[in-house]
Amino acid sequence: MSKQATHYVAVIGGAVAGSVAAEILAEHGIQVVIIEQNKKPYGKIEDGLPRWHREQRKQEYARIDARLKKPGVTFIPSTRLGSDLDFKELIDQWGFSAVVLANGAWRDRNVGVEGADEYIDKGLIYQNPFIYWYNHKNEKSYSGPRYEAPDETLVLGGGLASIDVVKILQLETYERALRAKGVETDMHELEKKGIPAICKNHNIEPQELGVKGCLLIYRRRMQDMPLAQPPDNATPEQLARTEGIRQKLLSVQQKKYLFRFQDRRLTGGLIVENGRLVGLKLSETHVEGRKATPIPGTEHELRSPLIISSIGSVPEIIPGIAMKGEYYTFKDWDLGYYAGSDRVFGVGNVVTGQGNIRASLVHSQKVANHLIENYMGVGESGDISGFTAPAEGRAAAQAEQVKERIQSVTPLSEAQVKALEQRISAAQKKAGYGGDYDAWIAKVTPPDLE
Ligand SMILES: Cc1cc2nc3c(=O)[nH]c(=O)nc-3n(C[C@H](O)[C@H](O)[C@H](O)COP(=O)(O)OP(=O)(O)OC[C@H]3O[C@@H](n4cnc5c(N)ncnc54)[C@H](O)[C@@H]3O)c2cc1C
Repeated sequence: MSKQATHYVAVIGGAVAGSVAAEILAEHGIQVVIIEQNKKPYGKIEDGLPRWHREQRKQEYARIDARLKKPGVTFIPSTRLGSDLDFKELIDQWGFSAVVLANGAWRDRNVGVEGADEYIDKGLIYQNPFIYWYNHKNEKSYSGPRYEAPDETLVLGGGLASIDVVKILQLETYERALRAKGVETDMHELEKKGIPAICKNHNIEPQELGVKGCLLIYRRRMQDMPLAQPPDNATPEQLARTEGIRQKLLSVQQKKYLFRFQDRRLTGGLIVENGRLVGLKLSETHVEGRKATPIPGTEHELRSPLIISSIGSVPEIIPGIAMKGEYYTFKDWDLGYYAGSDRVFGVGNVVTGQGNIRASLVHSQKVANHLIENYMGVGESGDISGFTAPAEGRAAAQAEQVKERIQSVTPLSEAQVKALEQRISAAQKKAGYGGDYDAWIAKVTPPDLE
């Protein structure tokens, strides 16, 4: 750590947004301390991007590593803001010039029916722990909850992440069904070529396997699904084209992974038997713009061995951080200025939650749509290398603002720097981190991490 350092910034979370911000700040002579809750700093890339994207995941790990190893960036792993570290203490007592929240969106949005959360792990699970399990379940050292992926699971969703959930269910179910017929398949092959193609290679008709498939339900119309996005200020023709792309995307997915889909359904109640959630009470909806309202008289029941809610991720509640609805309170949502303190900022998913891959400054709409097709496994090249570009671009722009602000703040005195560096060393020691980033990553990476 530098003795000449005059500004120190804490960045909470070391994944895409946090590492991009850290690199930019460090390049401007600002000392940056990444405080990461996990042993590894890869965030959604490791725990949210399904493991069939193996090449992309490896490339992103390497890019995050390179940023976190830049001179001026210090890493503190295994330290969680909100439990290991108090937010108010961090901003008021540690003495950082600024605090940047880059902790992403890890809290599943509530299912929206009173009492539903009583049935978590009793018929109901949420998307984030489910994908975490899927990505890590084959590691020998995995000790988290284990989930089943039963046939006929009901998935509530509509966005990209819910398509990932549906694909996981179908891949698991068909792999099991094929194995029961003596056919060993590889998940990567099933995902890449699609279920019908693999069945055909083995002279099996998918119907022979007796799989009914999981069911994805969405509250609006199929053409409203947030899979592709129109450009800003879209014309009626552009809107119609986007709706067509969404329908095509979904139907190509269904052909490849054989899941069922039902649009215009809203959850209104729970069906509980013997302390377990066994189904949902649904209504058909009337859709007007973004509003989906239940149509009286269309109430019906749908039973399912498992319900997975995949209706979006929002930032975790952290004691001391002011909330506006599901989000932290930012007074400028583009720039990530936190309303409660002019020394606290937000970058990345923590500001807006996990939005959609939008046609942005970084991507033309055409590129964005190809990217989504490739992400979903229905594109021609399978290349998703531009996937994190919107998140990186946004984080870089926000980091520039943080830099501007910090440069107008009084530099830290030598005594302040000394006291802060003592706290940083103590936190690293507590985490068992000796300061050698590569050696640490090698130590904490399971040999069988996919
Ligand atoms: C299904 C899916 C859909 C996606 N869709 C989009 C999209 O629409 N648009 C887009 O731009 N990108 C999208 N992405 C791409 C990309 O994954 C994300 O944009 C990007 O990875 C988010 O980076 P982040 O750094 O903001 O958040 P994260 O990757 O979530 O990183 C947050 C980091 O903070 C850490 N952390 C969390 N809480 C704490 C705490 N309390 N204390 C300390 N550390 C903490 C976490 O462990 C993590 O390392 C998507 C990814 C997936 C998997």
